[in-house]
Amino acid sequence: MKASQRIETLLGGGDDGWGVFLKARRMIADGTPVTELTIGEHDIRTAAPILQDMHRAAMGGHTGYAAVPGTDSLRDTVAARVQSATGVPTSRANVMITPGGQAALFAAHMAVIDPGDTALYIDPYYATYPGTLRGASARPVAIKARAEDAFQPRAEAIAAVAPGAKSLLVNSPNNPTGVVYSAATMDGIAQVAREHDLWIISDEVYDSQIWEGSHISPRALPGMVERTLVVGSMSKSHAMTGSRIGWVVGPEAIIAHLTNLATHTTYGVPGFIQDAAEFALGLGADFEAEVAEPFRRRRALAQNLLATQNTVGLIPSAGAMYLMLDIRSTGLSGEDFALALLDAHHIAVMPGESFGAAAAGHLRVAMTIDDDRFIDALRTLCSFAAQHAA
Ligand code: PLP
Repeated sequence: MKASQRIETLLGGGDDGWGVFLKARRMIADGTPVTELTIGEHDIRTAAPILQDMHRAAMGGHTGYAAVPGTDSLRDTVAARVQSATGVPTSRANVMITPGGQAALFAAHMAVIDPGDTALYIDPYYATYPGTLRGASARPVAIKARAEDAFQPRAEAIAAVAPGAKSLLVNSPNNPTGVVYSAATMDGIAQVAREHDLWIISDEVYDSQIWEGSHISPRALPGMVERTLVVGSMSKSHAMTGSRIGWVVGPEAIIAHLTNLATHTTYGVPGFIQDAAEFALGLGADFEAEVAEPFRRRRALAQNLLATQNTVGLIPSAGAMYLMLDIRSTGLSGEDFALALLDAHHIAVMPGESFGAAAAGHLRVAMTIDDDRFIDALRTLCSFAAQHAA
């Protein structure tokens, strides 16, 4: 029996850029220690008080079907968080709780895309984006941001492909580049969206990881509230990756449609997870800063180290748990460099090419191991690059 065309073509083909990661995992399984700077997951676990609250909620009986769009009180808490961060009036009716940001990305596209519609996204991109768009029966079209522009997308490049498109997916702070979109970038995006009647899907899962400047949500820009769907998550802000909890914030009518979609797909998020998420959000901004602190610290260490050499370039990152390194001076592709580094020094980083053609000749380094090992690995990476450049 044949599977559906949609499911068979979900991935673009090949290993979809995960070759280095998979090789590193095979080496580890065979007993070779590898320093892994690949995956966007904290080196801490979910904090004990959050788990205690989850336990309390489960033991208290919140283990049955929970309200499909989310509990009233969690939706209120998320709405208040979004409103206080952006100033945009936001209520429970604008919030739908999802099993993580990934499910929110898919749901948001399902809400605005008809089969065959063009859905735009920016390259470099988070690895699941093209498959998510194809899963929602869209025709994905990538818009290249350029290393020379510090990967801030240009409004002209978006406008060039906007006619006839339905949506544009943006992500700031950005995975993989660590770049935070400037006010000028966001204004340009909003202008193109208004002119070409685009939905903006704004993936803001790293909004608590800002090292410089500030996070701008396009939903807060003039004329944007009715055409923006914000994707949020507790994965990165609260180290709750395994709890699978996130949300979509958007116009009431879309949230009502998404509730129908959830009724026919996920049937909501477990009540005890939602209660723990509400408790976690109640810990406030100080707690979120504490979770983000190791990445802030490691970025500063990396900046100091990289300033002492001139083979490896650092894309000016201002947020998220990644650094994007420019290794074009070595003459190697990101993939060849990453494979050679893994073979020679058992250090695994992601080739830029895994995140789109725009990041060719770059590497994404996740700052997700302890400071000393992180800096040692970066030092080794830099001398390896210097040998190849020589
Ligand atoms: N969006 C971006 C940019 C990400 O990097 C990730 C995870 O790494 C997600 C969305 C999905 O996160 P989750 O489904 O854990 O909320």
